[in-house]
Amino acid sequence: MKDKSSNQSGRCQCGDISYSLRKDKVISCHHCHCKDCQRSTGSGKATILFISKKYFNLKGDLKYFQTTGSMGSHIRRGFCPNCGSGVLSYAKEMPKIIYVKAGTLDDSSWINIDSNFFTGSADDWNRPDMTIKCYKGNPGVIAGIKTILKSFN
Ligand SMILES: [Zn+2]
Ligand SMILES: [Zn+2]
Repeated sequence: MKDKSSNQSGRCQCGDISYSLRKDKVISCHHCHCKDCQRSTGSGKATILFISKKYFNLKGDLKYFQTTGSMGSHIRRGFCPNCGSGVLSYAKEMPKIIYVKAGTLDDSSWINIDSNFFTGSADDWNRPDMTIKCYKGNPGVIAGIKTILKSFN
């Protein structure tokens, strides 16, 4: 049953968008150094956590911007239309898994990063942690996640 302590909250800068998620249902956490994430965050990388949509509750309406990923999937990044904070993204082809931007959590101290994506486009001023698993490009995790998803049902 639902354990209250496992609920984590987050929000955009202005508070128009807020959410809660089940910490115990987070699949994995990653740094993504792809150029699209660099541009959309204005930083060296995006830090994202993967979670099934059914353990994520969103309040407010995000504005979405879509790009085509390196494997041809369509990545939709959701922003607060008022303050512009990037809150989450997902692949249009796999909408059941969402990628929450870790920095929007009210408390992100519990996050453990599993791997780095697209280290090939990481910059010297933002070097990836090489002690964890690194993928030079696309990690191909989509297939892996589909397997994980099945185990939830
Ligand atoms: Zn906002
Ligand atoms: Zn990326």
